[in-house]
Amino acid sequence: MPLPLLKSSSRLLMFAPHPDDESLACGILLQNAVQAGASISVVYVTDGENNPWPQRCLSRRWRLNPADRHKWAKLRRQEALAALRVLGAASADVRFLGWPDQGLAGLLLSDRASSLARLRHLIVEWSPTDVVAPDVADRHRDHRALGVMLGLLFSGSGSDLHQIQRWSYIVHGRAPGFLRNARAVPQMRRQAETKRRAISCHQSQLMLSRRRFLSYAARSELLLDIPPQEVAQKDRARARVMKPPGEARMAVLHDGMVAWGVSGRRRIRSCWRIVNGVWQRLARVTRFIGICRHPAEVANSRSAETLSYASKPWQKQ
Ligand SMILES: [Zn+2]
Repeated sequence: MPLPLLKSSSRLLMFAPHPDDESLACGILLQNAVQAGASISVVYVTDGENNPWPQRCLSRRWRLNPADRHKWAKLRRQEALAALRVLGAASADVRFLGWPDQGLAGLLLSDRASSLARLRHLIVEWSPTDVVAPDVADRHRDHRALGVMLGLLFSGSGSDLHQIQRWSYIVHGRAPGFLRNARAVPQMRRQAETKRRAISCHQSQLMLSRRRFLSYAARSELLLDIPPQEVAQKDRARARVMKPPGEARMAVLHDGMVAWGVSGRRRIRSCWRIVNGVWQRLARVTRFIGICRHPAEVANSRSAETLSYASKPWQKQ
């Protein structure tokens, strides 16, 4: 499993759910890309504006209004640009999509088609050779949702994105499947020090979690190589991993993962989810939180009755 072999003709597109993910997840990779002379684009999907505790602490006010959040978003954008300068990526093509912080899962479930279309347009327009994005096994729901969106885009039938090499990263949590298969990006001490300085640009985030944030500079940067769908299907080790056939409906699993059930004639007969970028059939589905007759319903389904697949079908048509 090779790591990104970046050269001057490479075009590296990084998706960051929030300002700070560029440094925490890819501080070394971006330095390598700069050194190789590769073209770099960083897409910040949210501005990280829904981050009330540090903001309350800094402003010494309990109540925050939309204007406060707007100010916070601006601050976090500036911090991200400063971090990119430290990493040597000042000339990177940077975009801020301004999607709702803490709201990407809702967007995935309620407005999937237009969100995916926007991401697709962005990717096709910039034409990357390598895309690095959050893994679906990340514990943070924005990271996970973005991972699912990109998984859907790249695994869609007739996808024209198969030539692009994909990599995923985890910022939150230690998913065993990811850790087993991911590779460490080699790093020099000098690069780790630069990464630490880049992380330090995010003063708003260091305020309450200084030690945790700076610890990212000391740990290895891990990336998982995600093979194109057809390679995954031919790979014996992933023999049971494939795109779910037929019409799919969505549900939110009790662990927060988004799953798709495949409709039979009268009920959902099998259930799949994306693990490390590829579809995986769930051997046993026991509990769901919320069922989905229409994707928009899932966003409001947290209080829905927990259903047992063993005792009754979770979807009747
Ligand atoms: Zn993040």
